[in-house]
Amino acid sequence: MMADKNFSRRTFFQTLAVALPAGTVALQNTAQAADLPQLDPSDPTAKALMYVHDAADVDTANPAAARFEVGQTCDNCAQIQGNDGDAWRPCGIFPGKVVAAAGWCSVWVAKA
Ligand code: SF4
Repeated sequence: MMADKNFSRRTFFQTLAVALPAGTVALQNTAQAADLPQLDPSDPTAKALMYVHDAADVDTANPAAARFEVGQTCDNCAQIQGNDGDAWRPCGIFPGKVVAAAGWCSVWVAKA
């Protein structure tokens, strides 16, 4: 069991190391959501962060999804940008793309 815990902690910090610089760049992105392409779940970064368009499709058997809880979606994540109610919105982790409001990825953090 300790090995799983160590794996989860390591995975979390690895994904955080990828996510933070991308988020910084995204804050400077002023493009309108309507002009941005949808994030492809098969994009390498999206895959690494387990992004899915629908949180119901999260692979909960994957240790990287250990923090997932029902009710977590892009719409209530601290990284979401754009307008409340839009089905597709910019995200601080994936600059230049929009993510599904109903989606999820492994760096989800609750909105303050
Ligand atoms: S869960 Fe948060 S960080 Fe991940 S894609 Fe959705 S809005 Fe972005």
